Amino acid sequence: MEVIRDIFQHVPLPFVIAWYAIGVITAYLFIMGIRRHIRVWKQGRPEQISGSTLSRLKRLLYLGIAQAKILNKRFNGTMHMLISMVGFLLLVGMFSPVLEDVVGYLALLFGLGVVLLEYKRIRASGPPLETAWEDSFIYGVIVAMTVTGFLMMGVNTWAWDSPAGEVLTPFFESLGPKVLVELYPTLFLIHSALVFSLIAYIPNSRLIHLITAPWNVYKTPITVKGELTTPFDLKQMLESGNFDVKVGATEVNDFTWRQKLGFDACTLCQRCSDACPAKASGTKLSPMHLILKLKSLELQPPSTAKHLHGETVDPEELWACTTCRACVEECPVLIQHTEAIFDMRRHLMADGKVDRKKRDLITFLTNVGNTYGLPSGERAKWAEGLDVRLWGEEPDQEYLYWVGCAGSYDTRNQVVSRALVKIMKAAQVKFGILGNEEKCNCEVARRVGEEGRFQQTAMELIEMMNKKGVKKIVTQCPHCYNTFKNEYPRFGGEFEVIHHTQLISRLLSEGRLKTKKGIDQTITYHDPCYLGRYNDEYETPRSIIRAISNGKLVEMPRSRAGSFCCGGGGGNTWYTVELQKKCSAIRIEEAQQLAPNVLAAACPYCISMFEDASKVLGTSEKMPIRDIAELVADMLEQSTS
Ligand code: SF4
Ligand code: SF4
Repeated sequence: MEVIRDIFQHVPLPFVIAWYAIGVITAYLFIMGIRRHIRVWKQGRPEQISGSTLSRLKRLLYLGIAQAKILNKRFNGTMHMLISMVGFLLLVGMFSPVLEDVVGYLALLFGLGVVLLEYKRIRASGPPLETAWEDSFIYGVIVAMTVTGFLMMGVNTWAWDSPAGEVLTPFFESLGPKVLVELYPTLFLIHSALVFSLIAYIPNSRLIHLITAPWNVYKTPITVKGELTTPFDLKQMLESGNFDVKVGATEVNDFTWRQKLGFDACTLCQRCSDACPAKASGTKLSPMHLILKLKSLELQPPSTAKHLHGETVDPEELWACTTCRACVEECPVLIQHTEAIFDMRRHLMADGKVDRKKRDLITFLTNVGNTYGLPSGERAKWAEGLDVRLWGEEPDQEYLYWVGCAGSYDTRNQVVSRALVKIMKAAQVKFGILGNEEKCNCEVARRVGEEGRFQQTAMELIEMMNKKGVKKIVTQCPHCYNTFKNEYPRFGGEFEVIHHTQLISRLLSEGRLKTKKGIDQTITYHDPCYLGRYNDEYETPRSIIRAISNGKLVEMPRSRAGSFCCGGGGGNTWYTVELQKKCSAIRIEEAQQLAPNVLAAACPYCISMFEDASKVLGTSEKMPIRDIAELVADMLEQSTS
């Protein structure tokens, strides 16, 4: 079996020597280029990568090699697969006997990929990327490489079995064997020069993602999706008296080496920005551009590098993020946009670079324990006349009903709280509330970057609930649900936490709730980000809707993991962001396209946001906004009437 293919046949020896010399220089430039990137990442903070090597390798195989996420966008995925994986196999096949019989076919597939890429470039919508010139150059080199490759196959009938070559061969044969033998080395050298230039150019171009993307997929930690990183341990600091800790990302090297690798892995596919509600609503934030700015900053020489805040990233971009996680979900190479945004918000908060509304929010949380700034003594007013017991007032209480700030103080969401009480009572669930002892669990404080307030509250609430013997928590707020389920365990809060839709579903399936089947209404359901994308709970709310609506559930184009945020998360409910059109209005219009009778939700933020937008858009009567608990409670009313 030959080790080197017959591609050097008829190539004069000096050409072959030059080819090897250029090959060595290319390899040197390539390696040095990659080293430059590694040096840049290493200037970041250290980080231990969590998750076993095996799980991360499996993920690499699935996302990096099989390109599973990329392929879920069929056209782009196919095009990318043809150019990247087929291109790689083609390169291997040129020199290895293993793939020698299929090189010609691989070349054909690669050529198809190049045609699809051009089609995509022609059809591309939106403003051109900053890399437009570079993209054209790379594309030009790839096209030239492909054309010269096919010409070589047409001339070189002795080395390849190539369908494209066979089409061209008759033309070349008419030139006579002598011309062919002379033409081949020239084509070979031009083609090689193009391939070598492209390889040497990889570290200096967007093509670096060929290296960094799979690397980032492998290195991204395997963590709980709903848990933010913990920049310091407040308890330890209080015990040691040492408060000397740097919080958040002040400069680019305050990100960890792995985060910096991530910024460098961006493929510019725009999937994150296309999914981003902040971008859709016309704020300054575009997650792809944010990542590209961080990448560009980290690659600048330190002497001339701009500052991270103000010069590179506008604080408005950071505050526009609703933390919906659509960008992270979409990113094919697992870049963690939200993690970087939280790190930068932490710096702004620690430095006091926040406006009045954000300061007020933290003051409210500190002084009265709720996001509304209303008296803590009025927290349980919503339950007056409902005969709701406090936790510990009766024996064998199973669930602590965690009402949350919105469920306690917001008049619209108080209706949901009452509906849930009605449901639990109908099913004879033994539950209690904390009453005026409940206070915000400070999910929102953590998300606007006030980590100290979050941890302080977490410690206090966990201590109180542990003392009271709380084991199970039910809540209608996906934000509270996520925090208790995914964030409090790190601070010693080990509770069994369920969302109210999960409890309702269980009660229905156990036959503990007697409901009439069949609201004669079509219902569409909006997936709240913190229930869906953060906690993968898509099916349970739908199963309830199906059960009570004779299956008349209709899906919006953007649903489940691809759901579009209401705009209220990440603190956005509590301050003002400059925008053109509210996320909630965009979503209401999307729902309206289906002409449903009801827009159902399962989150107090979504309910509030949609209620406001539907009033403005005048859709409140035609398409009321209802929490799933309200729909179920209505059915109880009918069944008992
Ligand atoms: S989390 Fe949501 S709002 Fe924030 S950048 Fe990502 S997609 Fe945009
Ligand atoms: S951050 Fe991820 S999703 Fe966004 S453009 Fe870059 S690679 Fe694509």
